[in-house]
Amino acid sequence: MFCSQGESSLSEGYCFESINGADREQLPVVFVVQDNGYGISVPKRDQSANEHICDNFSGFPNLRIIKCNGLDFPDSMRAVEEALAYVRTGKGPSMVYATCVRIGSHSNSDRHELYRDEAERAEAKAKDPLPRFREYCLDHGLSEDELQAIEIDNQARTGRPREGHGRP
Ligand SMILES: [Mg+2]
Repeated sequence: MFCSQGESSLSEGYCFESINGADREQLPVVFVVQDNGYGISVPKRDQSANEHICDNFSGFPNLRIIKCNGLDFPDSMRAVEEALAYVRTGKGPSMVYATCVRIGSHSNSDRHELYRDEAERAEAKAKDPLPRFREYCLDHGLSEDELQAIEIDNQARTGRPREGHGRP
């Protein structure tokens, strides 16, 4: 089983219950947690005991916690592969804790300009992993034409323009 969630959800009781239960029953669950520093508009430092919120679960005997750089594709793949290998042993669940950035607002009903200054927003945008991932794909066998076809297909499916790499 696969579960994807933000870091601030780990401060919610129902998340604790699910991770606690998965640990207790040694269930094959991979919890993927993206830490972008905010629970909607609340900085994580204002609502969790540990900076890396996964550390709140460090005492769980069957849970394997694996930290990674969520901005780095190879490191993220390493972490997911390690998590999958662990749950396949039957010893219990794993948690991939990926440090990320949030470039925009949380949602259409959120305005991050109200609580993040311009410098912080610019720093986050400069860390956008998509241009680096694009270069990674080109370095590992995808052609520019193949990549553009994927991007056009994605745009058609999502209605979102291709951003972040200066392409038309
Ligand atoms: Mg978050």
